[in-house]
Amino acid sequence: MVKENRLSHSGEQRESGKQQVIDTIRAAGSIARIDISTATRVSPATVTAITAELIDVGLIEEIIPDVPRQDAKRGRPRVALKIRGNAHRIAGIKVSHRVISVVLLDFEGNDIVGHEMPLQQACMSVSLLCTEIMNALAQACGKGGFDVSTISGIGVGLAGLVDAKRNFVYWSSSLDERNVDFGAHLAQHTPCPIFIDNDANLVAKAEHLFGKGQNVSDFVVITIEHGVGMGIVINNEIYRGSRGCGAEFGHTKVQLEGALCQCGQRGCLEAYVGDYALLREANITNGGVGHRDLGQLVEAAQSGDQMACSIFDRAGRMFAMGLANVVNVFDPKLIILSGARLSFDYLYSEQVIQEMQRWVVQVDAPSPEVLVHSWGDLMWAKGAAAYAIEEVSALAIRELASSEK
Ligand SMILES: [Zn+2]
Repeated sequence: MVKENRLSHSGEQRESGKQQVIDTIRAAGSIARIDISTATRVSPATVTAITAELIDVGLIEEIIPDVPRQDAKRGRPRVALKIRGNAHRIAGIKVSHRVISVVLLDFEGNDIVGHEMPLQQACMSVSLLCTEIMNALAQACGKGGFDVSTISGIGVGLAGLVDAKRNFVYWSSSLDERNVDFGAHLAQHTPCPIFIDNDANLVAKAEHLFGKGQNVSDFVVITIEHGVGMGIVINNEIYRGSRGCGAEFGHTKVQLEGALCQCGQRGCLEAYVGDYALLREANITNGGVGHRDLGQLVEAAQSGDQMACSIFDRAGRMFAMGLANVVNVFDPKLIILSGARLSFDYLYSEQVIQEMQRWVVQVDAPSPEVLVHSWGDLMWAKGAAAYAIEEVSALAIRELASSEK
């Protein structure tokens, strides 16, 4: 996907200087040249040269910020720099169990279009999933009144084991085969760069940029959907593991030779707390009839059905045990429980959090903060778009640096 450019040492320096400058501008929203120099410790002269070049290629632009009147009196307002929104149009796509969600953002990260396309089936062939993704993207672009060819980069979030660096999918509940070079397949449908990652990593990215993880350098996000996922942010960066498939919280083992998981192994946490696991149990004890969806099971529990209550109770305790293990391993400052559906309320309950605290190693310091953040699939897609914006930005800088060799 990404062209490897062999840069000379000074070329690398130039590239990293440019990247630092553009990252600083993006993080600040708008910022004066002298403040970029202070933040990056790059000399004012070099910042001036770099920003001139970035303006020249259209990645950033100058603005005159609104200054309060009393400040304006003191002299000419300082010119600031910001990312040029129109520089690129970026797509973020999240493939869920029953729907594909698409957001289109400008290069600054502003929303242009949000769109959801229902899926007929949850698990499909590689070629069908590529077609469905491209259909959803075309529909979103149609809604915005522009052509798919105007998109500069596509971020895609999939559930499962994904090596983001290679756009390679080891396993996903959305695909009917393992070990798929999914980036290469998708690239046959579109010329623009594609960036694929595990969906929970993208939620962590979205939480870090737009959500409850803003200005928090180290935190853990647990996602609850059809499966259970985790994203780890360490030192402001996503931790992915050596093969790109770390942080598989849902497949940590909680029971020896336990319940069968959708990954094919036994005893995974997900096989006790995922929606399919709860329905499986409900339908065993119910003689295979009755509860078709989680909503019905939730209603039964709310109306006092003992069998339904015991299923949710056990799932909650299993989940609390998993959370306590995460705290005991990572000791994060913050845990964000992130999910879209209210039906997962049983995992967010006060009782579950208290139970978790009981199993956390006890020291004379407060346990990590646990925050619940419910949001829709479009926010997951926004995380995918944010990832693509970062990568498109890095590609643009790399091209710029290599053209100067
Ligand atoms: Zn599993």
